Amino acid sequence: METTTIISSKEAMRLEEMYGAHNYHPLPVVLSRGEGVYVWDVEGKQYFDFLSAYSAVNQGHCHPRIVDALIDQAKTLTLTSRAFYSDTLGVYEKYMTAYFGYDKILPMNTGAEGDETALKLCRKWAYEKKGIPQNEAKIIVCENNFHGRTITVISLSTDPDARNGFGPYTPGFITIPYNDLEALEDTLADPNVAGFLVEPIQGEAGVYVPDEGYLTRAYELCKEKNVLFIADEVQTGIARTGKLLACDHENVRPDILILGKALSGGVYPVSAVLADDEIMLTIKPGQHGSTFGGNPLACKVAIAALDVVKDENLAENAARLGEIFRAELGKIDSPMIEKIRGKGLLNAIVIKPGSGKSAWDVCLKMAENGLLAKPTHDHIIRYAPPLVINEEQILEAVSIIKRSILSFE
Ligand code: PLP
Repeated sequence: METTTIISSKEAMRLEEMYGAHNYHPLPVVLSRGEGVYVWDVEGKQYFDFLSAYSAVNQGHCHPRIVDALIDQAKTLTLTSRAFYSDTLGVYEKYMTAYFGYDKILPMNTGAEGDETALKLCRKWAYEKKGIPQNEAKIIVCENNFHGRTITVISLSTDPDARNGFGPYTPGFITIPYNDLEALEDTLADPNVAGFLVEPIQGEAGVYVPDEGYLTRAYELCKEKNVLFIADEVQTGIARTGKLLACDHENVRPDILILGKALSGGVYPVSAVLADDEIMLTIKPGQHGSTFGGNPLACKVAIAALDVVKDENLAENAARLGEIFRAELGKIDSPMIEKIRGKGLLNAIVIKPGSGKSAWDVCLKMAENGLLAKPTHDHIIRYAPPLVINEEQILEAVSIIKRSILSFE
């Protein structure tokens, strides 16, 4: 029996439009294969992937070591649920806690679930350890954050698209501007504040890199008030910004660390929350969980994915090539470019408002020229290639970006 369906781009897009919810607005490119830094559409055209599934594919598409781990485990045991022990989970937990330097891990599946888990942990710790009266705990969050799509997570969003029409919202959050230590210090004066949830670089907001020293000082301010510093490294973690964690740039060790996306190299949804015993052991059996969290496939895939990050020196590669990428982009002489910013291989070009072209127009042109990236908001293009990219490929990608931007003049 024929198992491969050959389908045209037009037909694939028609089917998604017709039968899928309209909760995304993809670029009109239909992908059917990926390897390393490249993806191919159904007509066989090759592209650089400069989105990497929002930084989930840091290890490159279909990394053979990660895919082999998936296949081997898929033939053996895929899911037990946490009703029983498995021969993979404890091994994975030991590996993860040693890799990231925490007492304990709580395994989940998606980034949003990781954030939800961290918020629950923070509240539980607030009542059991810090002594905040029941239901009074508050968590500080930042304007323009992105932590996912669940009701609680959108309750702390300031993006009207993410939020509006989905109320009522979960209470207990205080929003302050990002990269504003004074606002943080003022807000921390409230004794019922239990945690500060922050992205070390705001990815979805448009790759906003805070001032140097922001994370260090924010961490210190939290410590002064016995408040948990919670880092959402779902997008910035796992070597993306040139260090294993973006917090490592400032030698900050979060009290609660949230990871997702590239924890599986994009092969499978795997997320995790890491913390020390004082925090993690406040959650008791029956108080939190997930049918799929910590399943054998996830455990094996994540170990392989993190082995690849170390063995292939992906953080070092991201740091080195990120410098080259930003320097080369900086040489593009176009009135359309307002700013180039980023760290490691998480970068963005801000398109000047009023230049007549939107980030979407530029992304369409780049796709035509063989490079895929996605606008974040109307005027920002994020560039986040797989971290296995090499110098020659980075330079070729820059020439595509340059040609695409200059074609509008
Ligand atoms: N946190 C951050 C910083 C993210 O960038 C994202 C996704 O882009 C999430 C959380 C949500 O992850 P997921 O889509 O896997 O739920």
